[in-house]
Amino acid sequence: MSAHELTCIKCGKRYSGDDIVYICERCGGLLDVKYDYSAVNTDSIERVLREESAHHSGVWKFSELLPFGAGVRVVSVGEGNTPLYHCDRLGSLLGVRELYVKHEGLNPTGSFKDRGMTVGVTKAVELGVRGVACASTGNTSASLSVFAARASIPCYVLLPKGKVALGKLAQAIMHGAMVFSIRGNFDDALCVVRELCERANIYLLNSVNPYRLEGQKTIAFEIAEQLTKGNIVKSHHTPRTNKHACEIEIPDRVVVPVGNAGNISAIYKGFWELKKLGFTEHIPRMTGIQAEGASPIVDAFKKGEENITPVEHPETIATAIRIGNPVNAQKALHAIRESGGVAETVSDDEITDAQKALAGLEGIGVEPASASSIAGLRRLIEDGVVDSDERVVCIATGNLLKDPEHVVRICKKPLEVDASVDALLHIIRQQTAQLKPNLSSSV
Ligand SMILES: *Cc1c(COP(=O)(O)O)cnc(C)c1O
Repeated sequence: MSAHELTCIKCGKRYSGDDIVYICERCGGLLDVKYDYSAVNTDSIERVLREESAHHSGVWKFSELLPFGAGVRVVSVGEGNTPLYHCDRLGSLLGVRELYVKHEGLNPTGSFKDRGMTVGVTKAVELGVRGVACASTGNTSASLSVFAARASIPCYVLLPKGKVALGKLAQAIMHGAMVFSIRGNFDDALCVVRELCERANIYLLNSVNPYRLEGQKTIAFEIAEQLTKGNIVKSHHTPRTNKHACEIEIPDRVVVPVGNAGNISAIYKGFWELKKLGFTEHIPRMTGIQAEGASPIVDAFKKGEENITPVEHPETIATAIRIGNPVNAQKALHAIRESGGVAETVSDDEITDAQKALAGLEGIGVEPASASSIAGLRRLIEDGVVDSDERVVCIATGNLLKDPEHVVRICKKPLEVDASVDALLHIIRQQTAQLKPNLSSSV
C-alpha cells in the first residue's frame, strides 16, 4: 500500500489524498494519482508477476501500487483476474502473428468498470461520504450500484433516456440505486451529475475521478503477468507448461475501445509504471478505437491537435462509447502519442461484423463497443498501419449479455418447429443442403 498525492497534469498543482477534488481548482486540468516510486516495494509486485498467486481480486493483488494505507477497508466483489484468450483463428484471418483478447466482460458485473469501482468506492468509504453518484451509458451505473450495495451507501445514477442497453439497466435498478432517466445524452447527464455532486455533497465516480483509473490500470499489470507466466487460454488444450520466466513480457500493441477515454489512459499508466519501476524497457503502442459517429479523439489525433472538438450529437449502436465530449481526452491523447500508438474509427457495420467473428470463431461473447477494438485492428492491418508481425492484445470491455436487444436485431431467429425428431431432421437436412451446394449443380 502506498502513500500518494494528487497532481494536476496541466499546471502541476498538488492536492492531498484527503481532498475531495476531481479537477484542478486553479486551471481546470485533470488530476493524476502520484506515488513516491522509490518507496514502492517492488518485490511484492515481482512476486505477482512471476509466481503463482491466488488472490480473490485481480486489482488488490497489486495493492502495492494502489493509493491506500495499511488497514484500509476494501470494498470488493472479486473483480479482475480475467482470462487472456489466444485467438489464432481470428488472428490469421485478420493477418496478424499473435492476437490475444483480454475479456474484461468476465468481471463480476460484466465490464472492466469493476476494476475502477472497487478502488473508487473503497476511497468513498474511507472519505466517509454521504453517497456516490455517476452519469453512465450503462456499465458504470451497473458496477457502481453493485459496489454501493456491497458498501451499504446510497447510490444515484443518471442515464441518457432510451439509450441504455437492457442488461445494464436491469443491473442498475435491481441493486437498489436511485435511477434517473435524463432527457438528453450522456454528455448532458455528466454535466448535471457533476453539479449535483458539488451541491449535495455526494462523491462523483465517473472516470474524471482519478481513483477509478488507479483500479483500471491493473489491466496492464495482468496482461504482463499472464504473458510472462504463459497463463493464457488457448482454443485447443495443451498441458500448461510453467514458463521459466526470465523477462517480464509486454505486448507490442494494446487496442482499446474509447468512450470517455479513461480506460486507455489507465492502461497506459499501468505500463508506464512497470517501465518506471524497471520491469520492462518499453510500453505497448496504445491504440484507441472510436465509432465513426462519436470520434472526437480520433479526429484530434489525426489533425495533430492538442484539444478535441466535441461532437454535439454522437451516434452509434455501440452505446457504451456513444460519447461526444470525453472528459479524459487530454490523458488519452498523451497516452496514444507518447507510446507511438494511433487512433482510428470504425463503422457500426464493421463493429457488428467483428462482434459476430469473435463470437463464432473464438467463442468470445462481447457487447458492440468491445468489438470495436477487433474492428479497428482489422482496419489498421488492412491500411498497413499495424504490422503482421506484431503481438497484439485487444481489450474486450463488456459482456455479450449486456445488450441482448442488439443481438436479437442482428442474428437469425430460432427456427420454430413441432416437437418431432422427423421435423427437426427435415429442417437440418434442408439447411445443410443450402450450406453445401453439390458440386455438379455448379458446373
Ligand atoms: C465504459 C466502456 C467503454 C469506454 O471506456 P472509457 O474509459 O469511457 O473510454 C467501452 N466499452 C465498454 C463496454 C464500456 O463499458
